[in-house]
Amino acid sequence: MTNIIDGKAFAAKIRTEVKHDSDNLISQKSVEPCLAVVLVGENPASKVYVGAKTKMAAECNIKTKDYKLDDSTDQETLLKLIDDLNNDASVHGILVQLPLPKQIDERKVIDTITVEKDVDGFHAINAGRLSIGGEMLKKAFIPCTPLGSLLLLKDQVEDLKGKNAVVVGRSNIVGKPMSQLLIEESCTVTVVHSKTKDIESVCANADIVVVAAGRPEMVDGKWLKKGAVVIDVGINRIPVTKEDGSEGSKIVGDVDFASASEVASKITPVPGGVGPMTIACLLRNTVTSAYRHAGLEDPRSI
Ligand code: NAD
Repeated sequence: MTNIIDGKAFAAKIRTEVKHDSDNLISQKSVEPCLAVVLVGENPASKVYVGAKTKMAAECNIKTKDYKLDDSTDQETLLKLIDDLNNDASVHGILVQLPLPKQIDERKVIDTITVEKDVDGFHAINAGRLSIGGEMLKKAFIPCTPLGSLLLLKDQVEDLKGKNAVVVGRSNIVGKPMSQLLIEESCTVTVVHSKTKDIESVCANADIVVVAAGRPEMVDGKWLKKGAVVIDVGINRIPVTKEDGSEGSKIVGDVDFASASEVASKITPVPGGVGPMTIACLLRNTVTSAYRHAGLEDPRSI
């Protein structure tokens, strides 16, 4: 029988650890971890994410500073704000909620955030540290969604070494860093993407499948090896017709949960799987940054 991985409960456990670490820093060094959250424009999904991050930060005794800029903000204004936050000693993490309006160059913004406050882990130097691995990885901030996915896997799979892992998707935010983390764990990793031929036969050999394609319910149970562990990163809103005939919508992952859960030994649900882990890991990275700024060792390792 499939075991459904409870990401919500595991994320709550991580947040309890984060609060414990935050409280220790406050009592030992009188340093209050602080995350600056920058939102540009009115994207409704971004507003929801930012609201959830701010609320959970408060629960973990992490202070937040919110900056809401309007949709027409020019790049220079945003870069100036980031520069000010880079130089503000009370701020330990800077989060610029993506996507940004089209007049702003996302890469330029990400690489303007100082590496030491890049708690999203998207800066080119943090990406490089992750890619090099080993001691370099210990200095990096790891992107929150792949970090959350890895923590779930480590909790669920006794020994990752030598496991065949397939990552579906090669984005800089999820697929690429996920594949590098799994390589670091000594998995044998294959990355498939939109141009890959015959993804089904690649997945058929996988002990672990991590899916981040942004394609609703794409991965079918028929693609999977019996007993595979499946991490579904996807978040897609799809239209549904309700029982009363009215039109509505629901959130689904990139995996067809009904068929995949017949075959997988363990699987994350959507919602309630990877999603809550992403925010928990952002808070974890923020407290790690506050420890580093205070000259202390990281409170937790991967
Ligand atoms: P993206 O669009 O940047 O990248 C998608 C990747 O999937 C690309 O590399 C593409 O080559 C690949 N792909 C597209 N169609 C494919 C197909 N038919 N077969 C195989 N590969 C295909 O998306 P992203 O930012 O990596 O996000 C992926 C999904 O994860 C989305 O549903 C997104 O909403 C979700 N997401 C969730 C969280 C979370 O907190 N749980 C965080 C980030 C992203």
